[in-house]
Amino acid sequence: MPLLVMKFGGTSVADLDRIKNAAQKVKREVDRGYDVIVIVSAMSGKTNELVGWVESTSPLFDAREYDAVVSSGENVTAGLMALTLQEMDVPARSWQGWQVPLKTTSAHSSARIEEIPRANIDAKFAEGMKVAVVAGFQGISAEGRITTLGRGGSDTTAVAFAAAFGAERCDIYTDVDGVYTTDPRIEDKARKLDKIAFEEMLELASLGAKVLQTRSVELAMRYKVRLRVLSSFEENTETSGTLVCDEEEIMEQNIVSGVAYSREEAKMTLTAVEDRPGIAAAIFGPLAEAGVNVDMIVQNISEEGRTDMTFSCPINLVGRAQSAINKARDRGEIAFGSLVADTDVAKVSVVGIGMRSHTGVASTMFRALAQEGINIKVIATSEIKISVLIDRKYMELAVQALHDVFGLDKAA
Ligand code: ADP
Ligand code: ASP
Ligand code: MG
Repeated sequence: MPLLVMKFGGTSVADLDRIKNAAQKVKREVDRGYDVIVIVSAMSGKTNELVGWVESTSPLFDAREYDAVVSSGENVTAGLMALTLQEMDVPARSWQGWQVPLKTTSAHSSARIEEIPRANIDAKFAEGMKVAVVAGFQGISAEGRITTLGRGGSDTTAVAFAAAFGAERCDIYTDVDGVYTTDPRIEDKARKLDKIAFEEMLELASLGAKVLQTRSVELAMRYKVRLRVLSSFEENTETSGTLVCDEEEIMEQNIVSGVAYSREEAKMTLTAVEDRPGIAAAIFGPLAEAGVNVDMIVQNISEEGRTDMTFSCPINLVGRAQSAINKARDRGEIAFGSLVADTDVAKVSVVGIGMRSHTGVASTMFRALAQEGINIKVIATSEIKISVLIDRKYMELAVQALHDVFGLDKAA
């Protein structure tokens, strides 16, 4: 039997009517002759509520218990989806991650998938089951504890299942009808892309475009999964939505293909750090050990053997970063004047494969921001992206200005 993976995000399963609507889409594929693996998220808002409960109970929570709590939202929607399908006379059964078992690393709250054995689900398909409904976002560690895959992780569950079961396609159903040149909630003129290259989607996702979790794009790229993003609220055809695919499949290409943003950034500055060999390692080693993923780094010009070191990190890790740096100072490993955290920043990035062969993107970007009176605090570049850190209050304005200046409302 040909097999499809269909993933429904939070808004697509937000209540019983929406679950029914999603189930109808699944039934249609079954009627067309497919076996289907459905991956579900928690009802929209549920995971945030669960995270809130954990943080209120225990600010520096034990990540194992965090996972035990926040994984539960998906259990509810998996069971309800299976029941809804059964009511439509579609033979369906639900699985929680541990029942598959979807095996992961033990990195609680950001675990990585290690293995998806097919035997349990294949056995049920062989008995005539048509749809396996799997709770997204969760798995089980070698220690036998429940793990979660990081926020947005159901996308990754879906792609991993598509790879493990050799699915014809992995369809990600969500509340927008595809991947846009930027978040359509921020820029009315955002344009839906028919296709986007894996590399670009990977950058957009990792720079904040939460339409797909970064890791899901990585897996799709590695295992050559045909990955499509489409709306759960519209009638779809074979060509609806956005196909994430190899660069070679895309004929027309703008120099810049998208603008991404992330509100969840913080800028930390260590002033008057001693400027000596090994100082960067002495600062960033303890940060890495504390699980703080540092993004942008700038070291200012040294004066009288002292320098300022600035870096950005996710806003929810500021506390951990401060504690790691202060402990390193207490151990005598680093000396500095002060440690200043600026949590009113945002990161805005432009992404495009065309940047490999075109110059001038950075200067156009900086000029557009200057014209809006937006000051750039930190800059980072790679082969196909340029990111800037700016005051958060200018984030929307910056996204719109960059969308405009690179002509993203128009096709190439
Ligand atoms: P789901 O709950 O279905 O997983 P998410 O909220 O995680 O949905 O992701 C979909 C959202 O991603 C959209 O509602 C949109 O606001 C946001 N988004 C950000 N950047 C983009 C983009 N470039 N294209 C489409 N959507 C985007
Ligand atoms: N429910 C989880 C979250 O909100 C996983 C997901 O929806 O992909 O992050
Ligand atoms: Mg999501």
